[in-house]
Amino acid sequence: MPETRTLQLLHSVFGHAGFRPHQEDIVSQLVNGGDALVIMPTGGGKSLCYQLPALVRDGTGIVVSPLIALMHDQVVALKQLGVRAEYLNSSLTAEEARRVENALAAGELDLLYVAPERLLTERFLGLIERARLALFAIDEAHCVSQWGHDFRPEYVQLSVLHERFPSIPRIALTATADAPTRAEIAQRLQLENARHFVTGFDRPNIRYHVRQEASGAREALLRFIRDNHAGEAGIVYCLSRKRVDEVAEWLSGQDLAALPYHAGMDAAARRRVQERFLNEDGVIVVATIAFGMGIDKPDVRFVAHLNLPKSLEAYYQETGRAGRDGNPADAWMRYSLSDVIQLKRMMDESEADEAHRRIERQKLDAMLGYCELSSCRRQSLLGYFGDALPAPCGNCDNCLDPPQSWDATEAARKALSCAHRTGQRFGANYLVDVLLGKEDERIRRFGHDAISTFGIGQDLSANDWRTVFRQLVARGYLVADHDNYGALRMTPTCRPLLRGEESMLLARQVAQPKRGKKGRTRPAASDDPLFEALRERRRELAKEQGVPPYVVFHDSTLAAMAALRPQTLEAFADLPGVGERKLQTYGPAFLEVIRKTTG
Ligand code: ADP
Ligand code: ZN
Repeated sequence: MPETRTLQLLHSVFGHAGFRPHQEDIVSQLVNGGDALVIMPTGGGKSLCYQLPALVRDGTGIVVSPLIALMHDQVVALKQLGVRAEYLNSSLTAEEARRVENALAAGELDLLYVAPERLLTERFLGLIERARLALFAIDEAHCVSQWGHDFRPEYVQLSVLHERFPSIPRIALTATADAPTRAEIAQRLQLENARHFVTGFDRPNIRYHVRQEASGAREALLRFIRDNHAGEAGIVYCLSRKRVDEVAEWLSGQDLAALPYHAGMDAAARRRVQERFLNEDGVIVVATIAFGMGIDKPDVRFVAHLNLPKSLEAYYQETGRAGRDGNPADAWMRYSLSDVIQLKRMMDESEADEAHRRIERQKLDAMLGYCELSSCRRQSLLGYFGDALPAPCGNCDNCLDPPQSWDATEAARKALSCAHRTGQRFGANYLVDVLLGKEDERIRRFGHDAISTFGIGQDLSANDWRTVFRQLVARGYLVADHDNYGALRMTPTCRPLLRGEESMLLARQVAQPKRGKKGRTRPAASDDPLFEALRERRRELAKEQGVPPYVVFHDSTLAAMAALRPQTLEAFADLPGVGERKLQTYGPAFLEVIRKTTG
């Protein structure tokens, strides 16, 4: 029975108690020889979807991956589980590569990671033609998309796998959402007949907090870290190199292990920061956006923004680096209106053409709309990415601690009506001018000084009106038409609001955040001496093995250890994340710590 064997390996090798959503269906699709296209958010557990079937099926699973650093990390982690995994890429010497190739030919590998350019060589294709293959996995499959920012020309040629190995099951995986990219992947990799698994983009374990604050953001960050994440790993994003250096130095002065990371540092210095972040506990990296790509650290407990990101896409990608292990994590932001001004200036000064700049401005507007929300942030975020969340999430600042708000229903109706009466052909700035009844040549020329909404908005300031429009966009009542100069068009969702069946509340922009520990995700781990002792032991073991601490055990396994305090190897084996190999290698050492600390 393949099912029982699959479950058995899930427990004995990976130490997982069960599957995450969708994993079971995907694994069984491959085990049974079918193809799959998997769209799953970061942290959803994509790797298991090909690693487990590769173990269940005979032969070697070939994994195509574009990121050398990730290949290395995955192979190290798999070896810790007792899986026979290797990789082939340009970082190996000829001698090392030959050893791996021989192991493949001898049928001694469960998984082989390979860079696409290596895979496509006639030599390698010949080699795998003679080997027994379990499956092909194509990771980061969006690299095949010519319109995406990660395009890899070699990926297009991966269709050769289907042509030369028609009977070997293939799985392509990515976290990139949108439908055009998905269609492009299916078409270029000839996966039209594969089963598609598209899972939601929600990251329910991430708690979003956003606040506007003109000054004191640094102090607020320190308070946030001390109250919620003492001794834990995190990333702090800033807009400029200068600010990165400044903030890193200041945090270090407050006794935190904070390191700067930006493109102005030389490659060796950057690599050192990255290594410390991966290999030590509780390191905070203060970075420009250059940091994070290809870093697969599962236990990043918070991502903080001290500036406004330039789009929701960037924000979602950056915050998505928190909590990949599924445990509670925070996405925390403080921004100021001067960020908006600075970003707009950078966009105006960029070399890009006008159409491109306009799209950037609209993305920034969507970002601001998100920041100014008084309603559930997750609903707005997921809605933006085309993934509806029916009810408020209960795990964002607005859900947990609803902000003071004012009733903007009437204003919203005026705004929508103004868009309607001007033919849904204009952007927010023009509409604001009409509402304020501005003397303007263009308005007169279009005859909009004669419509009923001309000048009916003088009770609010131009800034308030812009907020109203941003909110209408953030909540999906209006959409900005990028092909048509950002004209605001109404969507069917605005009907209940127009009919008076729905109201709209907007947050009052309060300058000072409320203090206190409300909204804290959980007690800081370091409150518990046993957890600290276990972490110390993990640090030593990781050092001996030359691997990052989370490769020995995740925090969630240590937390379960501290809570359940197993006394025997048998009880230890029941902890999440403990498979047979790790039980043998590490069980006795941790049992000893539990006995000593609690005995
Ligand atoms: P992705 O590649 O989708 O970002 P990963 O494959 O790196 O995600 O998995 C994210 C985390 O989830 C890893 O720490 C992994 O050990 C964990 N994980 C995956 N599947 C399971 C499962 N069935 N049970 C418990 N943890 C899991
Ligand atoms: Zn919410």
